[in-house]
Amino acid sequence: MNIAMDMENDLKLKELHWRLRAKVENFLNKLNHLEISAGIFSGWRTWTEQENLYQQGRTEPGNIVTYAKPGDSLHNYGLACDVWPRTPEGNWNFKATDEEMNLLGTIGKGFGLHWGGDYDGFPDKAHFYVNAGHQTSDLKKIYESEGLAGVWNHIDAVNQPPRV
Ligand SMILES: [Zn+2]
Repeated sequence: MNIAMDMENDLKLKELHWRLRAKVENFLNKLNHLEISAGIFSGWRTWTEQENLYQQGRTEPGNIVTYAKPGDSLHNYGLACDVWPRTPEGNWNFKATDEEMNLLGTIGKGFGLHWGGDYDGFPDKAHFYVNAGHQTSDLKKIYESEGLAGVWNHIDAVNQPPRV
């Protein structure tokens, strides 16, 4: 990755909840060591961003890319991110083969990430997430009264942060 890509990736990492961030950092470092060029295409998303994404392929042009409405995606809580390979020129390689995406899935799972490629109905091979010990519907209720900080406090109450 070049410096601009590194900076963009670092910003996206910082927006993730620490439980996800720690695993994704290890995952991306491993890919780097294997000389597989990849990065975080989409990390934390605001509810507005989720709404815009949801409308894509419905009221807006494009293909349907999500079935999650605002608050229904772990992206909305910094608990999911999409990791895509890059081309040698540094562009996102959305045409990566199943084999390439499966390799990312296998490596990511080795670092304790859950993988969207294991979904039965709508496999999402770029999607990696952590189980925060709460249902998304519960996180949504907490968010509506206490915001993202409140959600993270609830998650941290059941998961102690790593020692550094
Ligand atoms: Zn995703």
